[in-house]
Formats: sequence, C-alpha cells, structure tokens
Amino acid sequence: MAKEVSPGVLALRKVVEDVYADAREAKKQGKLVGWSSSKFPCELAAAFDLDVMYPENQAAGIAANRDGEIMCQAAEDLGFDNDICGYARISLAYAAGKRASRKVDLETGEYVINPASGRPLKDENGKVVMGEDGKPVKDPKTMQPYTVLDDIHEIEALPDGKEKDLRWAAIKPYRQMQMPQPDFVLCCNNICNCMTKWYENIARMCNVPLIMIDIPYNNTVEVHDTNVAYVRAQFDHAIKQLEELTGKKFDEKKFEEACANANRTASAWLRVCDYLQYKPAPYSGFDLFNHMADVVTARGRVQAAEAFELLEKDLAEAVKVGKSTTPFPEKYRVMFEGIPCWPKLPNLFKPLKEHGVNVTAVVYAPAFGFVYNNMDEMVRAYYKAPNSVCIEQGVSWREGICKDNKVDGVLVHYNRSCKPWSGYMAEMQRRFTDDLGIPCAGFDGDQADPRNFNEAQYETRVQGLVEAMEANAENKEG
Ligand code: SF4
Repeated sequence: MAKEVSPGVLALRKVVEDVYADAREAKKQGKLVGWSSSKFPCELAAAFDLDVMYPENQAAGIAANRDGEIMCQAAEDLGFDNDICGYARISLAYAAGKRASRKVDLETGEYVINPASGRPLKDENGKVVMGEDGKPVKDPKTMQPYTVLDDIHEIEALPDGKEKDLRWAAIKPYRQMQMPQPDFVLCCNNICNCMTKWYENIARMCNVPLIMIDIPYNNTVEVHDTNVAYVRAQFDHAIKQLEELTGKKFDEKKFEEACANANRTASAWLRVCDYLQYKPAPYSGFDLFNHMADVVTARGRVQAAEAFELLEKDLAEAVKVGKSTTPFPEKYRVMFEGIPCWPKLPNLFKPLKEHGVNVTAVVYAPAFGFVYNNMDEMVRAYYKAPNSVCIEQGVSWREGICKDNKVDGVLVHYNRSCKPWSGYMAEMQRRFTDDLGIPCAGFDGDQADPRNFNEAQYETRVQGLVEAMEANAENKEG
C-alpha cells in the first residue's frame, strides 16, 4: 500500500519542485541563475528577483539518488582530491559539465538495462517469486538502465542529430541532475572554509563572477559588535556587486518581504522541529532530514512558510490521534549527530527499526531555523552555523536539544566528508556523557560518498549503543 503523505509534506514537495522549475524557466528565458552556499543571505538575492540554486542541497539529492559515487569519482578524475567534502566533489563535477546518465543504445535508442538493478518480484500473496536458478526473480518494472558518466560540453559539440538528442535525453531526469549551470555564484563561508575554495573553483571553471561574504569562525559565544560591523560592510559590498551584475537598483521593499518570509519560514520550521519533543514522537529526525531541501532552497518564499505551517497542523493532528510516521513502537530515543549518509538511508534506518530506536533529536535541521528583527540581528544569525561556533556554544546547543527531546543516547556520524564537524565530536561525546549521563556511540561514514560507509560496523555500533542505553535504564530503575 502506498505510504500516506500529509498535506503539509505534499505542499513542501511542490515548493522545492517550483524552485527548480523556476530556475530552469529563467535560464530558458536568458535570465541570470545563481548558485549559492546554503547559508548565504538569500534575502539579498531576493531583493533583485534572482533565481538561486543550492549546490549542497543538490549534492545531497544526487547522493540520495545513488549517483554520489560516479560524480565524486568524476571530480577525482578532474584532479580534485578524494579527501575533499563529497558535496564539493559532486558539485565541482557538475559545474565541469559532468552528468550521471542512463546508458543508451545509439542504434536502437533503447536504454540498456542493468540486470543487477530492480526489486524482487512478489506474487499476489506478497511472497517473493523464485526463478529456476533458485534466485529471486526481479520485478521488470523496477529495473533501471546502467548509469554512465556523460559531459554536456561534449554533447553540445556534437552535430545536430540522433546521437545528440539521445544523449541529452539520457541525462537522468530527476531535478538535481537537471539544474541549470550558474551565471554567478554566492558564497558565505559560515558553513565551513571548504566553501571558499569550492566556490572559487566553480567561478573559475564556469567563468562567472563570485560574490563572497567572509564570516570567520567565532571563538566566543557572543558575536562582538566589531564582527557585526565587518559583516555588515560586506553585505553592503555584495549589494553593490549585485547591482552591477543585474543592472538594477537594490529593492528595499522586496528585501523586507524576503526577510519577513524567511523569518516566518524559520519560525514554522523550528515549531515543526519541536514536535520531536513529544513522547512518543509523531515523526522522526529522518523526516526532518527530508525537509532540509525545503528550508534551504525556499526560506525566502512565502509558499515555504505556508507549507511549513500546514505541516505543523498535520503534526498537531497526528499527536491528537496518536499517529506517527515511525513504523515501529518507540523503545529508545536518540540524537543523531551530523549529516546522514544520504546514499545509505535505508541501511541507517534498518538496525534502528530492529531495536526500536527512534531518532528524536538532530542538530543539522534546527540550525537552519534562525529568526531576526533587524539588520544587526540578521548578521548575528548568519554568524552562527554548526561549524562556525565555538565548542561551548556547540555543546550547549546540543545538550539543550538532548534534554528537550528527552533522548536516551547519542549516535554520532564521523563523517569523512565533513572534517570540521567530525573533528570536535570526540570531545562533545565526552561532555554529553559527563553532563547528561547518556551513552554515545560513533560510526564512520560519509554524507555523499558511499565508499566510506561500512554497514557491519554501523550495525555493531547501534547494537552497542542499545545495550548501553538498556543498562543505563536498568541502573536508573535500580
Ligand atoms: S560543512 Fe561539511 S558537509 Fe558542508 S560543505 Fe563544509 S565540509 Fe562539506
């Protein structure tokens, strides 16, 4: 039976589809389309009516569609090191024109099906159909063509004709693989310092202007006035650069509208995140991860605010009637630390389900909910991102979430891509156990490159965490 999808979730899906469709349309009409880091002030671009896309988000989508490895490898073949963040490698390969494509037979025009793809065929009683060779038969409807790497510059250079048409059409049709190339890039390094070089490289490869806002790591809990002045001056400079780029004047009314929308979206998003505090929770941190695309790509749109408010209503109703999207009874509650392994979501979920572990707290999602009332507060809000705040602030954020969301343990993703995040996690784990008396377990993985995830290690770590949570509960009862 198809999974029931709530009206809020449906509305959010449409919001993101529209962001991509609008950018494709803008490109077709010859308008400028930009690429932006996820926490660049989108309000500035909105004041110029610019269509902006988000490569981090795009890379997460490509990884979730299982094309992370081929794109990471493509970037490595271009000379980018395997140690660079997987999002950056996917994005740099994409910026260079590389695309994941379906293998097509240029004679017949048919896609060449990969026999290893597809799900097992089931009979009318839901039983897997076995073949004569004793192996499960594949459902032909779910089988997919081989994935190959193509290059839009090579396709463009072909003479008009059958091969050109077939190769254009073979590029995978999901939205993240159909994102328009950039005419300018917007970068803010509050996310991490890898951003700076990543966006400089995109600008160089695509020969487009880069608008950069430098927000350095903040080693104090407060953001000092001098830091605010430093960033405000850069906002002013970015506005001048955008005026030159677009030939338009900064529209204050549109800017204020975008600020109001961004604040309304952020407030609704934070209230949605707070529903994880219910015991049992009406949904899980995995649901929040799925909405990251919405809050990153469409924060400044009124439709995003409305859709999150609708989702809030769905969750209130779910709590009232005792419904949850989590398909098992909640025995343990944990915080999931870090970005999930997008290509391995089912593998992450499986052992959690087996042990009744619900992810009722995440750090990554609420980090994108920030509200401000004036320009200085806006700068301070942009100053704070998971990797740009000091360890005291980081510990206090997380311990607050752990307490509010009543977790029994913490599962830490040591993400090979995200070194700034993973680097201080060992100390954080120590502090969580000391301060909150809860066990923590870590596993190695990667948000985008599936080569860095080991399922057996992950399962063992989850099992260890469950045993520690069980012992902790028994001790408390004792
Ligand atoms: S914050 Fe981490 S995941 Fe995001 S771009 Fe930087 S290194 Fe990559």
